Amino acid sequence: MRIDILTLFPEMCMSVLSESIIGRAREAGLVEINCHNIRDYTLSKHGSVDDAPYGGGMGMIMQTQPVYDCFDAVCRQTGTRPHLIYTSPQGKVFTQQRAKELAGYDNIAILCGHYEGIDERIISEIVDEEISVGDYVLTGGELPALIIADCVSRMLPGVLPNEEAYTLESHYSGLLEHPQYTRPFEWHGMQVPDVLISGHHANIEKWQREQSLRRTFERRPDLLENAELTEEDRKYLSSLAK
Ligand code: SAM
Repeated sequence: MRIDILTLFPEMCMSVLSESIIGRAREAGLVEINCHNIRDYTLSKHGSVDDAPYGGGMGMIMQTQPVYDCFDAVCRQTGTRPHLIYTSPQGKVFTQQRAKELAGYDNIAILCGHYEGIDERIISEIVDEEISVGDYVLTGGELPALIIADCVSRMLPGVLPNEEAYTLESHYSGLLEHPQYTRPFEWHGMQVPDVLISGHHANIEKWQREQSLRRTFERRPDLLENAELTEEDRKYLSSLAK
């Protein structure tokens, strides 16, 4: 898969994408992620990429020409037209489900807004989808683009040791994950639950499933509506509701 990020601050993105799991995945060629500096495409003599909003108001608006030409260059480089996402607080809120779907694309591109945002005509002309990372406003789309690129990339084959590394985690099947522990067995007077050192795999699995259901019930009951639940899960949940 190839992901192209269109931004005014490519170094901000590259520093994050060069570290840890995603950095290693890129080095191994499991995912290709490129950052493009929108400013490199401006035709303005002064290198400007933004201007004051029509109608007045605070801040600056990113102009159409450099963004359009930057995306055009990405299309020519990739030899295709990537699915273009614009990061926006006005978009649909990003979910694990949408990340799963995006991981099925060969090419996606992510356009990062900055300042007061982007001229609306770019959105209507070239953007396929607007994604928000939550109901709050950030200074730019770089952090949201990194969130999307990270979440999608870690589900690509080979990036994590196996599929279970992400399918058993929070949100994949609609539940929150059970609590986790590591050595030492006792810390600050708190011990690891006995079942986890019992070596009894069926009991461990049952405990983990129940903890996962309990956490979801207590913290995010809204998720239970769409979670994949067995008859046994439902019985356990109704015992919690009493
Ligand atoms: N004026 C815009 C509004 O009120 O909807 C907000 C602009 S924001 C200050 C600048 C840029 O940051 C946006 O164009 C977008 O790319 C990005 N951004 C800010 N908050 C975001 C969020 N919650 N999700 C995704 N992108 C966001």
